[in-house]
Amino acid sequence: MPHPNTNAIRIQTQRTDENEHSTPLFMTSSFRFDSAEDMRDAFNEVNDHNIYTRFSNPTVQEFTDKMCALEGAEAGFSCASGMAAIFGTFMTFLQSGDHILSCSSVFGSTHTLLTKYMPKWGIEYSYGEASDIDSWEALIKPNTKLIYLETPTNPGLDIVDMEKVGKLAKKHNIIFCVDNCFATPNLQRPIAFGADLVVHSATKWIDGQGRVLGGIVVGKKELVREIYLFCRNTGPSMAPFNAWVLTKSLETLDVRMERHSNNAEALAKKLEGHPKLNGVKYPFLPSHPAYEIAKKQMSRGGGLITFELKGGLNAGVTFMNALKMITLTSNLGDSRTIASHPASTTHSKLSEADQLAVGITPGLIRVSVGLEYIDDIAADILQALEQC
Ligand SMILES: *Cc1c(COP(=O)(O)O)cnc(C)c1O
Repeated sequence: MPHPNTNAIRIQTQRTDENEHSTPLFMTSSFRFDSAEDMRDAFNEVNDHNIYTRFSNPTVQEFTDKMCALEGAEAGFSCASGMAAIFGTFMTFLQSGDHILSCSSVFGSTHTLLTKYMPKWGIEYSYGEASDIDSWEALIKPNTKLIYLETPTNPGLDIVDMEKVGKLAKKHNIIFCVDNCFATPNLQRPIAFGADLVVHSATKWIDGQGRVLGGIVVGKKELVREIYLFCRNTGPSMAPFNAWVLTKSLETLDVRMERHSNNAEALAKKLEGHPKLNGVKYPFLPSHPAYEIAKKQMSRGGGLITFELKGGLNAGVTFMNALKMITLTSNLGDSRTIASHPASTTHSKLSEADQLAVGITPGLIRVSVGLEYIDDIAADILQALEQC
């Protein structure tokens, strides 16, 4: 078996008669059959012919196969966005009366899904503390069907010990799902630590250039089969064009994540101890409270860092306005460095107490460190800090 990174470059749909080198784009909503019998067999799953792109498509399958190779997963299903993959996973395994155990700091839309929409269908949730896994067992109920977490978390960059959660899930026979968006499979492979399913927003590092939305869930074959059946009937499937963009992106994911990690680590070290900051957080800084766990489950620290301005909310706004090169945009995982100020934007509707509960202080800045030359990234941040 070639190395996963070789597979991410070399896995390709069967070459057409045109003998193309780069992968073709199968931009078609349906597929034709040679006979009524052939069509009947496809619908009865006697053969594996493609039927309709809501069910399957060769370009989408190529992206799925590469992601399975990278994550060490048996099977996968690609979705239109990260949220489509997360929602599809929840709805496949949860029904009225069930309970989901998650982590207090999850992605904003996932939090909304858990707190606002799931209760509508009679599904309850509990949140555990990322830093206190030992207290999670007490949160498990007889009706807990799913344990769902992110690590590192967004935007707090907390690290959750996946090995401990994996053991807990196995002991209680609960499906364990990890959102691996922040680390990517090149830096962290949750299945090796006991995850049954791994979800991604492919919109972020996997695309890596801020072009298309995408999502995927990979993991145990029998679980993915259930998700596939749910999704093929409800329609959150990935579009072939997006799959084509994303499958090409996977060819460079490993080199990109290495450079993103190099830049982010160098920036975090440069900013640590800066007089305008209360602190800098990065998984691979020894000052990170879960540095040892990060080292255990990640090969590099990834491309995101956070720091806290001493001047609070006002300093956050001043800092953002003072940036010259770095972009103010609500995305992450781009070749271009992006800064965000959660307290005045994504989390501004929460009370200060609720913000603190998910690790957001008024002066917290999150930087998605891009691929630009590191001295230029650092210079922009340092000159903006001077004005705070
Ligand atoms: C962006 C994001 C999502 C949602 O993905 P979309 O592709 O935007 O739907 C889920 N989880 C995390 C950690 C994210 O950053």
